[in-house]
Amino acid sequence: MNREGDRQDDDRVLIESVRDYARSVLLPRDRRCDADETPITDLLPELAEMGFLSIGLPESLGGLGCSFTTYTAIIHELAYASPATAVTLSIHNMVGNVVRHFATDDQAREWLTDWGKAESFAAFAISEADAGSDAASSRTTATRVDDGYRVTGEKMWITNGLTSRWFLTLARTSKPDEPTQLSMFLIDGRQDGVRRTPIHGKMGIRASETAVIQFDSVYVPLTGLLGAEGQGMAIALTALDAGRIGVAAQATGIAEACLDEMVSYARQRKQFGKLIGEFQAVQNMIADSATELAASKELIARAAAAIDRGHADWTASAKAKLYASEAANRIAYRAVQVHGASGYVKECRVEQLFRDARVTTIYEGTSEIQRLVIGRSILKDVGQHDS
Ligand SMILES: Cc1cc2nc3c(=O)[nH]c(=O)nc-3n(C[C@H](O)[C@H](O)[C@H](O)COP(=O)(O)OP(=O)(O)OC[C@H]3O[C@@H](n4cnc5c(N)ncnc54)[C@H](O)[C@@H]3O)c2cc1C
Repeated sequence: MNREGDRQDDDRVLIESVRDYARSVLLPRDRRCDADETPITDLLPELAEMGFLSIGLPESLGGLGCSFTTYTAIIHELAYASPATAVTLSIHNMVGNVVRHFATDDQAREWLTDWGKAESFAAFAISEADAGSDAASSRTTATRVDDGYRVTGEKMWITNGLTSRWFLTLARTSKPDEPTQLSMFLIDGRQDGVRRTPIHGKMGIRASETAVIQFDSVYVPLTGLLGAEGQGMAIALTALDAGRIGVAAQATGIAEACLDEMVSYARQRKQFGKLIGEFQAVQNMIADSATELAASKELIARAAAAIDRGHADWTASAKAKLYASEAANRIAYRAVQVHGASGYVKECRVEQLFRDARVTTIYEGTSEIQRLVIGRSILKDVGQHDS
């Protein structure tokens, strides 16, 4: 067998082992964390040991060296069992990949050598209270000082924000009277002036950390600037090219878990002297869910293949994210419907999956923003000839 065939076999074995681990270890853990709203991040050393913190990084940097296609299959398997673990790991891996893309050799050596270790855990700090979909209106500032920058501002909704060492942070490097210039920094969370406040009361993915991060004149060395000054939004969008496919894979993991729960319940619940799976209305809900799940996986496969070819396709990522996240919400809705009253209480897993699915149409760009990206790419010439 050629090396390509060996690699595919290795990846299949890896995905199966992720599935076994996720379903036996993460699933029961995630159920408890959802109930208590406790983060799953205390498992980080174990997850690091298994290579989950450097899935796409090359083996020379201690990573698993997986293709992006394999990466999405891993996120899917994690999300089937624990959507919160899937988002926790996909944010960290997304930051690692974009750092690798834009870092100089010296930066890559400094940051990525230990990226697979729990001590290098990372967060993506773009959003602010008044800068959500419009990330470019970020108000956090990075002011140039002799030997670096001082960063001041407040980032909101930051996944992994309580435990992460690194914050990939978007900040203004322009003066107030100049046109806005945004730059990207990898900020060491151990520096003085970094304050982390947990956000409690989330509807779903309650085992993932979400925090407000305050930067109060935090020192960042010159080498903390990723790419060039002014390249901040381009770097953020490159990260999201891949990140959105990760959210789509999270959504298919949730959807597949919902479908399996539906099928299992339809095979055992009886009404009117028959299994409910014999009623066509119930079969329709299962059929629509299976079809939408298959379509979601196809869109993810296309978008991931574009990344593997080295030609990330912004609209393919947006289509995968838009369709898979909205389909997961429809499928989760049907999963509760098939379970009737039993699906409406916390003892039933579909109650949690229904809540966990909800955020997938919101973070890393809402559905409306994905439609905007797709629509603009199709209609890009409209209005060009207006006088
Ligand atoms: C659990 C969770 C974790 C998150 N993790 C992170 C993280 O790790 N890092 C990070 O930086 N951010 C994170 N976010 C923030 C997330 O990315 C934002 O919530 C998202 O980008 C939307 O911004 P917003 O909530 O401010 O909504 P807004 O931008 O205020 O949007 C409100 C509504 O208006 C619509 N809208 C806005 N602009 C347009 C437009 N131009 N056209 C049409 N409709 C529009 C939106 O679609 C939405 O329906 C997280 C959010 C959540 C809930």
